[in-house]
Amino acid sequence: MQIKCNVLDRQFQMYQAEYEAAALRVLRSGWYVLGNEVLAFENAFAAYTGRKYCVGLNSGLDALILSVRALGIGAGDEVIVQSNTYIATVLGITENGAVPVFVEPDEYYNIDAAKIEAAVTDRTKAVLVTHLYGQASNMAAVVETARKYHLELIEDCAQSHGACFDGQMTGTFGRAGCFSFYPTKNLGAFGDAGAVVTDDEAFADKLRMMRNYGSKVRYHNEIEGVNSRLDEMQAALLRVKLGHLSALNQERKELAQRYDAGIVNPQIVLPKLRTKAESIYHQYVIRCTKRDALQAYLAKQDIQTQIHYPIPPHLAACYAHLGCHKGDYPIAEQYADQVLSLPIYTGMTGEEQQYVIDRLNAF
Ligand SMILES: *Cc1c(COP(=O)(O)O)cnc(C)c1O
Repeated sequence: MQIKCNVLDRQFQMYQAEYEAAALRVLRSGWYVLGNEVLAFENAFAAYTGRKYCVGLNSGLDALILSVRALGIGAGDEVIVQSNTYIATVLGITENGAVPVFVEPDEYYNIDAAKIEAAVTDRTKAVLVTHLYGQASNMAAVVETARKYHLELIEDCAQSHGACFDGQMTGTFGRAGCFSFYPTKNLGAFGDAGAVVTDDEAFADKLRMMRNYGSKVRYHNEIEGVNSRLDEMQAALLRVKLGHLSALNQERKELAQRYDAGIVNPQIVLPKLRTKAESIYHQYVIRCTKRDALQAYLAKQDIQTQIHYPIPPHLAACYAHLGCHKGDYPIAEQYADQVLSLPIYTGMTGEEQQYVIDRLNAF
């Protein structure tokens, strides 16, 4: 049996008629970028998250870059970020000329909130937390520290659409919740797309200007903007999927529970769930000291796995100029050496999952 890490066509087939109707409606409408479909999706997604405003953008990376920029954070400013996040989170900071200050993750793979305070300096402007793999960070502690030092709070929710902490949805704890709708995400489009949710009207207005060349009124460019517009096709398709997001997330939770119960191998560390936190299992991530051997063994049995992520940002070639060294963030480095993401996707059958579990237990 061949098991892929990601299978995207099954969720398409599940709601095929709805997707095709939405796509045809856009094709026939004669309006393709920033129109009524974008507005309808923005309203629906704002309502889903419980925030007042949603601004549709081109990608999750743009959501991060533009959020940091709209807050006036730039050269010389520091932004606190976890050391094991995806490179895009850090690019959201460095694209603005600001400096990432890394804080190690906790045992749930999110920022260790107890270590934030020690990283604050008089140049710190914001904390940028990633709800990695779909599990909410310890937001009670993150919010408390951000408040204490008057720091902006930005959430990278690219992997946490619909995940809650203490009943409150990720993306609603700070000024900005930044989302990616890249096709593999829990709320994935059929191309690139992203959004920011916020309760701050002026901030939302600024993002709307920024995404369209810095203009509110065409050809009246108030600020130096970019082109980060969301197109009608993605917005229409996303609105279809948003209607099914709770069911899709529930399916992943059940798949995760079956992995939790089925995997019995002392060499494998299963993901832990934080009290009060919820995970939508964007990834199901195990740890193993013989990770590379395990991955090769699974590949031999036709089971695809992935590593999120093999090189922590502070050791990425593009950040050599930050002057970090191996050993600077040992927990992030240990995770980079040991984590392995198992196949988990909409429409994964019991038979497919049992095959993965059996192979893992036989390792
Ligand atoms: C996917 C992802 C992003 C970037 O989203 P894009 O839409 O690919 O630009 C940012 N942060 C995290 C944690 C992600 O997983």
